[in-house]
Amino acid sequence: MKGAAAAPAPAPANLDDPSRTGTPPVPRALSVPQNRCDRVASSPSSPSAATAPEPLPKAELHLHIEGTLEPELAFALAARNGVELPYATEDELRRAYSFADLQSFLNLYYALMAVLRTEDDFADLAHAYLARAKQQGVRHAEIFFDPQAHTARGVPIGTVIDGLARALDSAEETYGISTRLIMCFLRDESAESALTTFEAARPYFDRITAVGLDSAEVGHPPSKFKEVFALAREAGLKCVAHAGEEGPPAYVWEALDVLGVDRIDHGVRSLEDERLVARLVADQVPLTVCPLSNVRLRVIDDLADHPLPAMLDAGLLVTVNSDDPAYFGGYVDDNFTAVRDALGLDRETLRTLARNSFRASFLDEATRERYLREVDANQG
Ligand SMILES: [Zn+2]
Repeated sequence: MKGAAAAPAPAPANLDDPSRTGTPPVPRALSVPQNRCDRVASSPSSPSAATAPEPLPKAELHLHIEGTLEPELAFALAARNGVELPYATEDELRRAYSFADLQSFLNLYYALMAVLRTEDDFADLAHAYLARAKQQGVRHAEIFFDPQAHTARGVPIGTVIDGLARALDSAEETYGISTRLIMCFLRDESAESALTTFEAARPYFDRITAVGLDSAEVGHPPSKFKEVFALAREAGLKCVAHAGEEGPPAYVWEALDVLGVDRIDHGVRSLEDERLVARLVADQVPLTVCPLSNVRLRVIDDLADHPLPAMLDAGLLVTVNSDDPAYFGGYVDDNFTAVRDALGLDRETLRTLARNSFRASFLDEATRERYLREVDANQG
């Protein structure tokens, strides 16, 4: 899986440059292009930016911070860190974003991570996401990160968490977005590696709200990670897991009954099992669905055939999220717009999805209620 990764370049001299300060040399404007996230939303029928209504306030609950690495920022960080990317231009890289399945996406995803080396890099990555999220109406973000994808490259877990935390600490003030961090284990790595990662993260548990499980699903059932999830629950952390994306409904059952998760990430294949749907409805287990991701990774052939309406009709607590937006053609409001257009969802259904996002979050009750009132007050 990681064989496709670019060979790490030797540490460049400029990393030790004494003139280098804590201020990231990557200009914010470079890392946060204003119009790229309109790739999906800017259909001919979309209102112009000048007349566009305020996007619905929403929480984003399924967002991999590494999946927000836009080609512009990847090239900027590559230059800063002396990493050679196997693409000559940003356009050439963007053309590589055509995936046959989850694994072909993951190959590129891990290759590009080679540019993330320092605390500044992780802080810049998170700032770039938060700036875009603000434009998309995000009021609360529960953000995944993959420590093993970085520690395997020699980047200490503290560098990753301290860099992300630096950006998240100022997110309320700078972007008006509350945040939580969710540490994911790579399910195609061993259970022992997950345990090692969990223990390495212990000094940072005050920064982490939940643990999760992601990466290549098929062949790596949730039960493989029973032990580390039990330890996480013992430590007072919430638990989530990707299940029922490419994997079968049986994986969703395992996530619920073996790992004891509070939320299922994706879960679109749950509809194949009536008894499972009844369980998810009865317990109101949230499902963090990612429509554009499902199409890009060929989980669903056509957005017009997405099971989102059927999931809502079944009474499931469904939310809409962006997953890896730099790679899948849109951030979270772009996903809202895309499902509205492809599935004919009316305004009230979109409001239900926005309300669900806060109901499914790990927010305290008072803050949740405040955000729900913002949804009700939105005139868009
Ligand atoms: Zn995901």
